[in-house]
Amino acid sequence: MILLRQFIPLLLLLIGCSAELAGQASNEYCATPPGRSEWLKSYQRAPEDYAVRSGELLYIPLTIHLVGTDEGKGFFTGEQLASALCILNEDFLPTDLQFYISGDIRYINNSTYYRHNFGQGFQMMESNNVPNTVNCYFVQDPAGACGYFSPGADGVAMSKGCSGPNSHTWAHELGHFFSLPHTFSGWEGTDYSPSSTTPEFINNRRVERMDGSFCNDSGDGFCDTPPDYLSYRWSCNSQNLSGVQQKDPQDSTFRSDGTFFMSYASDGCMNRFSEEQTAAMRANIQFQRPGLTTNSFIPDLISDTLQTALLAPDSGAVFGNTSLVTLQWEAVAGAIGYAIDFDFYVPFNGLTINYRSYTTTTNSLTLNDLQSNRTYIWRVRPFGRYDGCTTFSEPRSFSVGTFVNSTEWEAGDFGLKVFPQPLSASAGPLQISATLPSGGRATLRLINSSGQVVRTAAFETRAGINNTSLSADHLSPGFYLLELVCKDGRWVEKVTLAR
Ligand SMILES: [Zn+2]
Repeated sequence: MILLRQFIPLLLLLIGCSAELAGQASNEYCATPPGRSEWLKSYQRAPEDYAVRSGELLYIPLTIHLVGTDEGKGFFTGEQLASALCILNEDFLPTDLQFYISGDIRYINNSTYYRHNFGQGFQMMESNNVPNTVNCYFVQDPAGACGYFSPGADGVAMSKGCSGPNSHTWAHELGHFFSLPHTFSGWEGTDYSPSSTTPEFINNRRVERMDGSFCNDSGDGFCDTPPDYLSYRWSCNSQNLSGVQQKDPQDSTFRSDGTFFMSYASDGCMNRFSEEQTAAMRANIQFQRPGLTTNSFIPDLISDTLQTALLAPDSGAVFGNTSLVTLQWEAVAGAIGYAIDFDFYVPFNGLTINYRSYTTTTNSLTLNDLQSNRTYIWRVRPFGRYDGCTTFSEPRSFSVGTFVNSTEWEAGDFGLKVFPQPLSASAGPLQISATLPSGGRATLRLINSSGQVVRTAAFETRAGINNTSLSADHLSPGFYLLELVCKDGRWVEKVTLAR
């Protein structure tokens, strides 16, 4: 009894908390306007009137628009695009629909489109869409959501952050593009409450029932997607069902099926379109979007395990004080682009951090802004029009400049100490103690894990111990490098900022 008394309030607190969190997420997942299109209503009244060619593999052209800021920053990378295309084609494989990148990948420098509202997104699509392709825009913030399909502008906007290797948002939005509503259609913007009686109609739409009556004119209009009233992002149990039990207007109880891409279940639950959803998408392509299938496309496949051969510079090459190095690798048949992962090795602590990611269309890359006194590590991943499921090559490293300090002095005599570690947000500035062989001007730089300098400070030093501090205000939690450079050399220390 004692255990129960203590346990119940805690349990209620947890339930209250998760419902609130899920509610907040509701307007952040998909911003596609709700409802069934006129085309879908007419299709669902008599699907048998649409002679759909099933079983025929259709290749659908995509135009990929990568949107960055006015300064040309923040683009979705080639590696991220390849991984997203790989997942998309896996998700659509059972539907016999496969997607390929048509034409060149388009880059748009426009901060207004990079973080846009609906009006700006409409304008972006109106001025950039390529006819007879599925136009997809990867941006930082598409109208506050993970993504949306705009029926007016006929394009899909995707958030880079919701297009990761475990995400099915792209499949969800392309489902909308090909006419599919949400499985909980009608409930958008309305939170289902298990404690209230479920009405016959919600937002002027008939509420879908468990017994299948009105199934082609309620909810999403598909009879093989059972009722679902959950219009916020939810996580599923081990059977891919919702924790929330719902009641239909006739008081039959059920839990939502999270396997549908068109539900709001979390990514780990989703894995399919239903047969009726698949037939509707294929009919939509054949009858409403015939221009998408006019080009015959034969994919060039790149083996998933192909290791691209890196040609230059030689592994372990050491360059003098240069900032200019050209990377070269073997051209891969069928590749339309290469993703280059470029890291540097941090002296003294054995870590590598991702410095930059590049995307090229050719098999070489000239870097003209390399910093000295660093060892760089790079690897290459090719991707094709259709084929994003490729792997990175084995890495190679090269050095620029020479490391000064550990060769001229005994390790440990001189260097940097940073405390407290890890530093919490409320703990004040970073305290730094630098033990140096001689005095002079020294520069401190704090570098984030993306290689960006987030703090710089200069100070006068003397031989021996020098104490100083550096503000950590407004820095995101994570891992940073503190670098001290003076005439005697360069020291680096890892800094961890906790929440
Ligand atoms: Zn949606």
